[in-house]
Amino acid sequence: IRRNPGEEEFHQAVREVTESLMPYILENPKYKEAQILERLTEPDRIIIFRVTWEDDRGNIRANRAWRVQFNNSIGPYKGGMRFHPSVTQSVLKFLGFEQIFKNSLTGLPMGGAKGGSNFNPKGKSDREVMRFCQSLMIELHRHIGEDTDIPAGDIGVGGREISFLFGQYKRLANKFVGTLTGKGLSFGGSLVRTEATGYGCVYFCENMFNRTGNSIQGKTVAVSGSGNVAIYATEKATELGATVVTLSDSGGFIHDPDGIDAEKLAFIKDLKEVRRGRISEYCDQYSNATFHADTRPWIVPVEVALPCATQNELNLAEAKTLLKNGVQAIAEGANMPTELDAAYAFRDAGVLFGPAKAANAGGVAVSGLEQSQNALRLSWSREEVDTKLKTIMKDIHEKCVRHGTDGDKVDYIDGANLAGFVKIAEAMLAYGAV
Ligand code: NDP
Repeated sequence: IRRNPGEEEFHQAVREVTESLMPYILENPKYKEAQILERLTEPDRIIIFRVTWEDDRGNIRANRAWRVQFNNSIGPYKGGMRFHPSVTQSVLKFLGFEQIFKNSLTGLPMGGAKGGSNFNPKGKSDREVMRFCQSLMIELHRHIGEDTDIPAGDIGVGGREISFLFGQYKRLANKFVGTLTGKGLSFGGSLVRTEATGYGCVYFCENMFNRTGNSIQGKTVAVSGSGNVAIYATEKATELGATVVTLSDSGGFIHDPDGIDAEKLAFIKDLKEVRRGRISEYCDQYSNATFHADTRPWIVPVEVALPCATQNELNLAEAKTLLKNGVQAIAEGANMPTELDAAYAFRDAGVLFGPAKAANAGGVAVSGLEQSQNALRLSWSREEVDTKLKTIMKDIHEKCVRHGTDGDKVDYIDGANLAGFVKIAEAMLAYGAV
C-alpha cells in the first residue's frame, strides 16, 4: 500500500491473490526465498503517453493512455485495451495483474498485460473514434508485436475500435501479423472470438453445476451489463435452457420476467452494438419488462447470477440479498465484479462461486487461438473453435477443482489463484534473478 498509494483496485486484486497463496508459499519456502510474489506484483514496465486527436468541430483534444506490461514469464504479454472515463493506472494494474493468472490458467503460452485510456467513446462519432485510435497507435505500435505484446478489446473497445487500431498498426509496422486479436473475420479474426467470453462463462458455470449433479437448465438467471460479455452469456444460458430475466447498463437494469429469448436478444444486439442506445429502450419495445433506474439487478430473485459489466458491481448487501433469495451459483463474466467481502460471503455460504480469472478466461483463450490461426495462416471452423473453447473451460474447471478442493467443497477462488500461480512461479524460478 505504501509502494502504490491510492491504487485501491490494485490493492484489492493483490489482497485476494495473496490471501489464497500465502499458506502455499509458507509450505514451499523456495517461492519465498526467490521473492516470487513480490516480483509478480511489480509490473515489468508501464508505458504512459498522451493521445492528441481532433474532434469533429476541429478542436484539439488530449487523453492519457497506458500499456501495463505486467509479466511475460510464460509467453508474450497479452490483455485487452479499455476505453472508459473511469480508467486509471490502478484499474489497469488490477486488470493486468489478474490477467497473468487467467492467461496461465488457459494452458496457452500468454503473459499478462492490460492497457487503455480515459477516452470516452460514448457520444463520439465513428470518425472521432477512428482519429483517436489512429493517434493512440502511433505511440503504442513501438511497444507491441506478435511476439512481444498482443492487445485485444475490453470495455469500450469492440470490433470497430480493434479494426481502427489494427489498420493503423499494419500501416506503421508495414506487416500483416496477428499483433491484435478480436479482428474482423475478413482480416485475420477468429470465429467465436466475439462470443467467447460470455459463452465461456456459461460453460464454466455449467461445469460447476455438473460436478454437483445439477445443471443451469431450467434456472432463472440475472445478468448485469449489456455489452459484449453480457449479450453472449445471455445467448448461451438461454440456449442451455435457462431463463435470463435481467440486463443492465450504467443507467440501471431491465427486468423481463418472461425471459430474454433469441428474438429479444437480437433487438438488444442492434440497440447496443449498432445504434449504441440505452438498455431502458428495451421497455419501449417489450411492455412486460420494467426499467429500474440507478439500481443493479441483484434484488431480483434468481438461482444464478452472472455479473458481466464492470469491477465492484456486486457488494456485500447485494450478496446477502441474492443468498436470501436462494442463489445457487455465481460466475463472474466481468473482471472483479464482486467486492471481496461479498465473494467471501458466497464462498462461506457454500454456493458455487466461479471467480473471473477462471470463469471469463474463454475470451483470452480464443484470442490465443486467433494468434495460432494467424501464425499458421489459416482459419478454423466455428465448430472447431467452439469445441476447443469448451475443452479449455473444462480444463480450467478441473484445475480449480484439483487445487481448491477441501473436503467435499471446492474453493474456486483458491483453486484458480493456485493453479494459475504455480506455472508462472516455476518459470520465474527457472529463470533465476531476472
Ligand atoms: P462492453 O463495453 O461491451 O460492455 C460493458 C457493459 O458494462 C455495458 O453495458 C456498460 O454500460 C456496462 N458498464 C461499464 N462500466 C460501467 C460502470 N462503471 N457502471 C455500470 N455499468 C458499466 O465491455 P465488455 O462486455 O467487453 O466487458 C465487460 C466486462 O467483462 C469487463 O469487466 C471486462 O474487463 C470483462 N471481460 C471482457 C472480455 C472480453 O472479451 N470483452 C474478456 C474478459 C473479461 P454503459 O454502456 O452504460 O457504459
